[in-house]
Parts: sequence; structure tokens; C-alpha cells
Amino acid sequence: MKIGIVNLGCPKNIVDTECMLATLGEFSVTISPRDADAIIINTCGFLKAAREEAEKNIEEMLAYIKFNKALKVIVAGFYVTKDKQKLIEKYPQVYAWVGVNDIKNMKKALEGGGVYINSYPYIATYRERSVVLNTYSAYVKISDGCNHRCAFCLIPSIKGAYRSRTLADIVKETLVLTNSGIKEICFISQDTTHYGRDIYKTAKIGPLLSAVMGKIKKKFWLRIMYLYPELSVIKDIVAQMKKDSRICRYFDIPFQHVSDKILKSMKRGYGKKEIFEIIKYIKENLPDAEIRSSFITGYPGESEKEFKELLEFIKEGYVDKAGFFAYSDEREAASYALTGKVNKKTAENRRKLLALAYEKFCESNNKKHIGKIKEVLITGREKKGFLKGRTAQNAPDIDTYVLVKTGKKTLSEGFCKVRITKSEKFDLIGELAWK
Ligand code: SF4
Repeated sequence: MKIGIVNLGCPKNIVDTECMLATLGEFSVTISPRDADAIIINTCGFLKAAREEAEKNIEEMLAYIKFNKALKVIVAGFYVTKDKQKLIEKYPQVYAWVGVNDIKNMKKALEGGGVYINSYPYIATYRERSVVLNTYSAYVKISDGCNHRCAFCLIPSIKGAYRSRTLADIVKETLVLTNSGIKEICFISQDTTHYGRDIYKTAKIGPLLSAVMGKIKKKFWLRIMYLYPELSVIKDIVAQMKKDSRICRYFDIPFQHVSDKILKSMKRGYGKKEIFEIIKYIKENLPDAEIRSSFITGYPGESEKEFKELLEFIKEGYVDKAGFFAYSDEREAASYALTGKVNKKTAENRRKLLALAYEKFCESNNKKHIGKIKEVLITGREKKGFLKGRTAQNAPDIDTYVLVKTGKKTLSEGFCKVRITKSEKFDLIGELAWK
């Protein structure tokens, strides 16, 4: 059985795709739709842009049926659960539909077609995860669902309530992955900070990190993504990072905005004061740590005043890395009912202004790395004589790279020391210091 894969959306979807594949038994992956027995498209549908991307991919893959009559196109994921009726009517040629919480049914869907959209809360365990699409870096989902009710977000209504995997199960999966040669594990969830509160009645991310690092003795990186801004839990994480340098000093904390007025309207449960307390705590305790965040522009009620507050925050470089998104007005979200809507063009212009300010900040901030020796995880070849890698402060699929000049030396995926010789707007350039 030859399977083609189209994975859309964020790393959480990569794990879901891997879990779907793990249900299939024997199969091989093909990159040629003309050659495939089936193509699985795992969609995102959180924002309009993601839904448009999903539809474009569905249409592209359905077009191959003309050349490959037996091709089964299976559409799965968030968008399927969100808009099932509309999609089923629009694309009758799709062989099977699999909802975001129905991963276990992928084998049935592949064998017999049909619709599998039950939306019962689901979280994969390590036994269902025997497939990893990357040879050096893997995402491990420690929980799914979300108990927050951010006004702009549809995730809790589609994915359901927060559900943690057991600590022992996550340790086991991490051990299996590192034993199989994976060099970097990224813990992901909708809200990593909340981990354990549902099943252990208390936040357990600190004990989870301690258990993983205690069990695994070999060299690897552990990275924690998607932290909700909550200082008490971030303190636990900082304490673990101080104990074990294999935990990347990297904080991915989506603040979404910095204006108290907007944060309140978003129902985020914190304000600007708490954001500054978190940043101060991290920078004082781990000066080499880097903070990534994401921000929404054009949220209802965002006037020039609130936008400038955010722009100043970015210009001042309070966060080291950032992503910016223009507000998407989703009919099913609570924020849809808000007044003070910002027009799309303004929201997009503000996004571009933030991106520009961030670019300028990066260009000057990157210079501080020149002359330093950094540990780099080599991830592949870039161009002749250069390899591509990342430092512990750069996450896969989202952050920037270090281009390593190797000359005639060959080097495989793995860790090495690199002296940074030059900085570009985003990437760093360096040469091997020692292996
Ligand atoms: S924390 Fe907020 S933005 Fe994130 S998934 Fe939960 S509700 Fe959505």
C-alpha cells in the first residue's frame, strides 16, 4: 500500500498524521500522487486562510483521480470536524472523512471509505505512535484539548476539554524515540502549562521534565512548546532547565497582545504586568534563554493606541522571536459578537508593520552571536560546502537556521560546535569549531 501524505497546519497535526499512519500496519510513503493507492490530507481549519489552503489541497489531490482512477483521497482533521456537512456536499469524490478526534478509525476509512466524525475526546498513547516522519526531530503530544476560552479561538469547541497523557506514557515514548536515534524531542499540546491538572489535580510539567531527564541518559534536546503565560509553572520549568542543560532554554509563550484592554477582551486571564513579570523572571534566571511569542493584530477594539503599545513592545525586543497574525473573524467564536471591528486591510497593515519592526530588531540582535561558539543540531545540507542546523534557541519548522561552512568535510545529522562568523537578517553563518 503506497500512501501519499499532505500535512497542513502546525506541529500538532504532524503528530496526528503520524498516529493515523501508525494505525495502518504495512505501508510505504510516496511523494507521487499518480503512484499512490491513497492520499491522506490532514487539514487545519482554525482560520479562514487554513480552510482555503485545505480546500486547495483537496481539489489538487482529487484532480489526480483523472490519471490514477483507483486513487483514494481521504480528508482528515480539524476542518473535517468543523465543517463536515459543507465539505461532504462540496467534495463527493472524497473517499473517506476522518474527524480530528477520530484518528483511530483511519484504517477502517482506508479500507472501506465512509465518514468517521464522532468527536469523542481522544489522545494518542505511545503504543499508537510507531511512525515518525523525521529522522532527527520528533514532536510528542503531551495532552490535547483546551480548558481556556479565549474569545477568538475555536479549538476548545472542536477538540474538547483538556486531557493529559500519563507521565509514565510520555516518558516511555520519549525514551523509545531517543533510543531510535531521534536527537530532539519537542513537547507540544494546546497548553503545555496546564499539563497534569486534569489527571493529577496539580500542574505536572516540572515533574514530567524531571522524570524524562532522569530516565534518559544520552545526549538529546528536549524542547517545550506552547506555554500559556503562567509564572508559577514557568518557574518550575526554569528550575528544571537550570538542572539539566539538555532542556533547551527556549520559551514559546503566545502572549497574543500586550494591551490590558485587548487581553481582557480576549479573555486571556492575564495583563501586561504579568507578561513583564514572566519575561523578567526568565531573563534574570536564564540570561541565555530566548522567548518566542505570537501576536494578533486588528482584534476588535484595537485602536491605534493599543496597536502602538504592541508595536513599541516588539521594537524594544522584549521577545526574541515572534509571529504575527491578522485577526480572523470566525462566526463561531465569541469575539464575533464584539463591536469595534477593525477592517481587514488595517489589521493586515498592522501585521506588516509589526513584522517590519521585528525584522529590524532581528537584524541588529543577531549580531550579538558573532564570535560565539554554539551547539548546533545539523538537520541537513544547504548548498555546496554548507550544512544547515539549528541552535537550542531555534525550534523546528518555525525558527531560523545556522548555515555551517564545512568545506570538504562530511558530517551527518547530529550535534556539533559551530563558531558564528556572520549574521544575516534572520539566519546565522558559522564554521565548525569541533565535532
Ligand atoms: S489557550 Fe486559548 S488560543 Fe490556545 S487553544 Fe486554548 S482557547 Fe485556543
